[in-house]
Amino acid sequence: MGQAKAMADGSWYDTDIDHVIISEEQIREKIDELAKQVAADHADVKDGILLVCVLKGAVMFMADFARSLGRQGPSTEMEFMAVSSYGQGTTSSGVVRILKDLDRDITDRHVLVVEDIVDSGLTLSWLMKYLESRSPASVEVVALFRKPDAVKVQVPTKYVGFDIPNEFVVGYGLDFAERYREMPYVGVLKPEVYARS
Ligand code: 5GP
Repeated sequence: MGQAKAMADGSWYDTDIDHVIISEEQIREKIDELAKQVAADHADVKDGILLVCVLKGAVMFMADFARSLGRQGPSTEMEFMAVSSYGQGTTSSGVVRILKDLDRDITDRHVLVVEDIVDSGLTLSWLMKYLESRSPASVEVVALFRKPDAVKVQVPTKYVGFDIPNEFVVGYGLDFAERYREMPYVGVLKPEVYARS
């Protein structure tokens, strides 16, 4: 009874959300669209695309995007990197430390960085320079979300899912204090959630 009620009322996180920014269905449709575009642009890539996921936020996107690409495009391989940005509070400084590096050589490979969200773009521009220094055939970026500030910086984000407002969002891999990553949609937390923590 308890569990049935909880399911009928929604999931634990729903009550913490002030408003939804992007729904589960919108995410699903957009990922198929992005995968279709990437597949069309890489139709003649012979050795497949090397997807590089930036942990942890891009995990959900990587999993769904890779499956969608697999249904319609060239083969893919997956790599994971973890970086930490030395920031001042919530803003990133562009100085990045590698916590987990690539496991393989990317020389002459077509690399596609799979990013959750581009905000200041500082982390991404550092990462692009780092990957380019390893002599790949190409490095491109697919980001599911982009905030307004990213438009001001010159970050070559070839594929973008959604331009979203300048609000702190959670869900679909994005966390607040390591929570809310499992949400299938993206939303803004109620102010009292921050007051609680
Ligand atoms: P940037 O260097 O572009 O400012 O930082 C990008 C990183 O900051 C993203 O990969 C993500 O981890 C984090 N980030 C930026 N905006 C948000 C947001 O609205 N919500 C969450 N949870 N993380 C964000």
